[in-house]
Amino acid sequence: MTRYVYDFVEGNKDLKDLLGGKGANLAEMTRMGLPVPPGFTVTTDACREYLRTGTMPTGLLGEVEHHLRMVQNQIGKTFGDPEDPLLLSVRSGAKFSMPGMMETILDIGLSDTSVAGLGRQTGDERFAWDSYRRLIQMFGKTVFDVPGEAFDDELAAAGGIGADLSVAQLQDLVLAYKKVFHAHTGRDFPQASHEQLFLAIGAVFRSWNAERATLYRRQERIPQDLGTAVNVMAMVFGNRGEDSGTGVAFTRDPATGRRGVYGDYLRNAQGEDVVAGIRNTMSLAELATIDPASHRQLLSIMQRLEQRYRDLCDIEFTIENGKLWMLQTRVGKRTPAAAFVIAAQLVDEGTITLDEALQRVTGEQLAQLMFPSFDTAAAPEPLTTGVPASPGAAVGAIVFDSEAAAAATEPVILVRRETNPDDLPGMIAAQGILTSRGGKTSHAAVVARGMGKTCVCGAEELVIDDDSVTVAGRTLHAGDVISLDGTTGKVYPGAVAVRPSPVVRYFEGELTAHGDPLLAAVERLMIHADHTARLAVHANADTGADAARARRFGATGVGLCRTEHMFLGDRRVLIERLILGDDGALAELLPLQRADFEELFTAMDGLPVTVRLIDPPLHEFLPPLEELTARVARAEALGQDPGRDGTLLTAVRRMHEQNPMLGLRGVRLGLVIPGLFAMQVRAIAEAAAARVAAGGDPRPEIMVPLVGAVQELETVRAEAEAVLASVPGAPPIRIGTMIEVPRAALTAGQIAGAAEFFSFGTNDLTQMTWGFSRDDVEGAFFGRYLGLGIFAASPFETIDSDGVGELVRIAVERGRAARPDLIVGVCGEHGGDPTSVRFFHDAGLDYVSCSPFRVPIARLESGRAACEAVQSDSR
Ligand code: PEP
Ligand code: MG
Repeated sequence: MTRYVYDFVEGNKDLKDLLGGKGANLAEMTRMGLPVPPGFTVTTDACREYLRTGTMPTGLLGEVEHHLRMVQNQIGKTFGDPEDPLLLSVRSGAKFSMPGMMETILDIGLSDTSVAGLGRQTGDERFAWDSYRRLIQMFGKTVFDVPGEAFDDELAAAGGIGADLSVAQLQDLVLAYKKVFHAHTGRDFPQASHEQLFLAIGAVFRSWNAERATLYRRQERIPQDLGTAVNVMAMVFGNRGEDSGTGVAFTRDPATGRRGVYGDYLRNAQGEDVVAGIRNTMSLAELATIDPASHRQLLSIMQRLEQRYRDLCDIEFTIENGKLWMLQTRVGKRTPAAAFVIAAQLVDEGTITLDEALQRVTGEQLAQLMFPSFDTAAAPEPLTTGVPASPGAAVGAIVFDSEAAAAATEPVILVRRETNPDDLPGMIAAQGILTSRGGKTSHAAVVARGMGKTCVCGAEELVIDDDSVTVAGRTLHAGDVISLDGTTGKVYPGAVAVRPSPVVRYFEGELTAHGDPLLAAVERLMIHADHTARLAVHANADTGADAARARRFGATGVGLCRTEHMFLGDRRVLIERLILGDDGALAELLPLQRADFEELFTAMDGLPVTVRLIDPPLHEFLPPLEELTARVARAEALGQDPGRDGTLLTAVRRMHEQNPMLGLRGVRLGLVIPGLFAMQVRAIAEAAAARVAAGGDPRPEIMVPLVGAVQELETVRAEAEAVLASVPGAPPIRIGTMIEVPRAALTAGQIAGAAEFFSFGTNDLTQMTWGFSRDDVEGAFFGRYLGLGIFAASPFETIDSDGVGELVRIAVERGRAARPDLIVGVCGEHGGDPTSVRFFHDAGLDYVSCSPFRVPIARLESGRAACEAVQSDSR
């Protein structure tokens, strides 16, 4: 028969699955001989069984009775004894700490008769009646969902928590609470102590499925089926007078990681008083003056706990009449900065290895350290809140179009209904981007994230016109200053003070790590990550400046240069001419492209640069259909010849596609537009030759997008090889392909015959595998899908390892089987996502490529993935 209850002396810290975090840690402290009140833990098995059947599992109540007797024997008191009652606390405790769920009921075992007994035993009637009213309140709220305000109102009427209520007043309050209880439950407050206990255990079980708990787990990606354990413990009281109290403490500062204990103590109080924050707490240092013996003991226990857990611990303790009791410990939560600092300290102290230290920090934490932040204490009420699409803090004057942004001399925020590739120069120039439409994978969001630029999108309350934006009855104009918080999605009026990230300044080479504990820790862990990593980290960079930054951030190559970004602005007209059949256009594009590549190869000298041939449908470079139609109509109405607009309109109509992402793009363009790819290949080869002639070491690679069949690649390859052979002085240049169409993944064995490398375009591969548009769906239904748990994160952000990931695994296997020295990387957005980096490591890729800003994050995750996974339970 399954056993459902374990005494604290029976468990240990490694039994979190069964006993929950709190129970396992209480057991560990008990085993260490620390002063833990006696008690036992009802297992998560019992909870799951209860939630499955709706009733207490067979045998559970008998086991509880048995363990209760053991507690009674240790304490020398009996549960329910009217003269000298043993009182119990009941607390939830899941495997992972869930602040949104914690259910606690104190003082179980008090009744109309035993309250008097407790008063006589302690000689403190006030304390006894105050405990009873606390029990009715917590029990009512937790077990029967009585609204907390109903009790709070009565308490307020009696004078409030801080008031020194007399015994008579407390007795009246108990009567009032019992009435509240009856009014909301239709029954009397239960007088039988065992009934109280069993009802409390059942309520904690049910709290697992409370809405806020479910929501918290969804956000934190904690499985929904774990269940919670329930800890039943003899009560100790911090509210027994001035020589009693309760406190929380950390073995190091959880905000900065600084060495030295850190905590708060509240005299003559119980735990929930600390949480309620009613009275002023004192520091642990002050405790040393009022109760030096307990303080000394506490410090020595904290030191032992750190040694045992080999990490920062937080604790809850109570002092009852001068005796210290430990009520909880766990590996403590900490800020990202503290995580790095503490991990490095523990290495210095010889407590953990560098490999373990890498497991104590995450790419997400590093990402948070890399964003500038607002001093929110100084922030006014936000104007509105949108989707936090790309973190950071940006302040600037509103501009409504890209040209104004690009021309601005002061910091600006680009405000648009949505953005498109035309807005790129403005996006580059702006401090931040604010849109009223689109979700986390809208154009604005993806591009902004790629640039490490702050973006809030989908702020639907904004009504954006050509030269004004209105929100909540307030109209702002171009030039008005706003502040965007890309981490929270909040949009503030005016300039909120910003703190630049010292970590970014360190990566940029503007700060050294010397003398700064955080930067020194980051440096040390990054060096170790690079040393351990198997997966290399390249960057997606289209310009020399981006590539140079990526290199400063530690990239060892460019994994994706999107050449289409080189055809915007003034060069657009050349593409128009090309589309209109002007052969001279390509010849004019050639030197421009060559110069672009030379710049890039210079910045990445000695490292691989993967240049992708042009990918998007060419009509993206033409004016929009509606705009042209209007222009032509206007000219005709005036009796004028629409001229070039007329020709363009015909071309735009001819090239119009219902589904451009599935249309004439990628390799298909190269096969249909004569000379286009050849021009690009020549520009690459000539740029490389020029670099060689100048004494450089260019290492270009040519990548063909959107291939689905080996024949496509073979055709393009033959043409490219002929061009390469015709450029004297060019170094050897590998030719490979993106794998971003499901058919390419499935036929990877064939495709590898014509490709020296693969790079997974997981943006398109995700779009085509799921069959949903990367440009449209996030705002449309992802919220609902996330809510339903169809996926835990957007598959455009974190690789869908079951579906898209399976195609990746298949392609790696088939590609390498056909060509063992095939180089395999990824250059979709996922390449910089911490969870996905781990996946790509496991899938055996050679490198990930991501935006320059995310390079350090990918380096860290790559190192973490490679070194022995030592489980940290710092969650
Ligand atoms: C991809 O599809 O993952 C990719 C990198 O190409 P793009 O985003 O330019 O389509
Ligand atoms: Mg693609």
